[in-house]
Amino acid sequence: MPFHVMIIPTLRCPGMCKYCWGSDKQAEIMDISIVENIKEWLECFRCDDEVHFTFHGGEPLLPGYDYYKDAFKILNTLPNHSGYSMQSNLWLLDDEIADLLVENNVILSTSIDGPKEITDYQRGEGYYDKTMRSVHLAEDKGLYVSYVCTFTSYSKDYASEIYDYFKDLKATVKIHSALPSLRGENADPWALNQEDYGKLMVELLDKYLYDLDKFQIMDFDHMAKSSFIRRGTLCAFNDCVGDTLAVGHDGNIYPCYRFVGMDEYIMGNVKDKPTVEDLESSNAYKLLHEFNDYVKEDCKRCRFIKHCNGGCPYNGIVAAQSPKAVDPQCQAYKLIFQNMKDRQKQDLIKNGIPGMPGAKTSQEKEEGEPFTIMDLMTK
Ligand code: SF4
Ligand code: SF4
Repeated sequence: MPFHVMIIPTLRCPGMCKYCWGSDKQAEIMDISIVENIKEWLECFRCDDEVHFTFHGGEPLLPGYDYYKDAFKILNTLPNHSGYSMQSNLWLLDDEIADLLVENNVILSTSIDGPKEITDYQRGEGYYDKTMRSVHLAEDKGLYVSYVCTFTSYSKDYASEIYDYFKDLKATVKIHSALPSLRGENADPWALNQEDYGKLMVELLDKYLYDLDKFQIMDFDHMAKSSFIRRGTLCAFNDCVGDTLAVGHDGNIYPCYRFVGMDEYIMGNVKDKPTVEDLESSNAYKLLHEFNDYVKEDCKRCRFIKHCNGGCPYNGIVAAQSPKAVDPQCQAYKLIFQNMKDRQKQDLIKNGIPGMPGAKTSQEKEEGEPFTIMDLMTK
């Protein structure tokens, strides 16, 4: 069973995104000794399972080249490490760091909200140019960069432009909807309500079915797959509890990067080399299990329970300030999954059952006709 450790070297970030609630301008930076502690902990924690590392923040490139040179050297000695990802605005990427990331096969993801004017409006003047300059540097070096695009109450009205932007880039993009936060009120006016989020996704899916061969919207690919195999494949639709962990700058362990800095969600510290049982006995773990138990009961009549699993526990627990709540995007999820189901039915009526005699395949589709949901499910 693979598991995922997110390393959060700092919650500090030089960006000024208007809807961000995850960064802290005064936050400390992880000392390399903590990476050594992470390695020592993982030598005896689930050491038979593959572990994937994601560097996340704040802004994970802030600790600089020397930190990463040493961090990779340390983590590469773990026989069960299966790879690295990094989520960064990339502003601090230079030749030296890019070469190091290439050497260690790091998969990059960055955040852009669409064309320059929209991105800079939401994320601050100059953001777009700084990030895209680094994207080009990374790509010239052969690094793979995917995108996270956050839709807000503002940018939802520019959905077509944003869609065309990523299509023209031939990008792989993941859609986030801006959420309100308990950590500050700055995010509230930007939050996308779930009705708008659901409608936006259905609108984007309409377009995407014409363009499956041109670029990739990960959310739809995963949702369609979840719908097909009746099991969530994106972290928000899978049971992430216990298989995703995050380590903050001081070695504290949390259930996911989203909880980093929230004292009540500390599960242990890497310096103490906690076992699986130690983490499971923490109060944070119990809260997440309370969430899972609540979902089992509250969502049991939902026809999408197997695709969705109650959504993201952070969204549920933090929005409601209680583990007895599902992801507040529930209504939007239902709308999207139902829309996929309806389209699947229409496709079956129109094109027959895939693989059966007489059924129409995507190769036989006529010019200008959309792909089918089945094409998306089996993409
Ligand atoms: S808490 Fe939410 S964002 Fe974090 S791993 Fe779980 S589903 Fe994903
Ligand atoms: S769509 Fe809503 S009711 Fe259905 S499983 Fe997800 S959170 Fe629960």
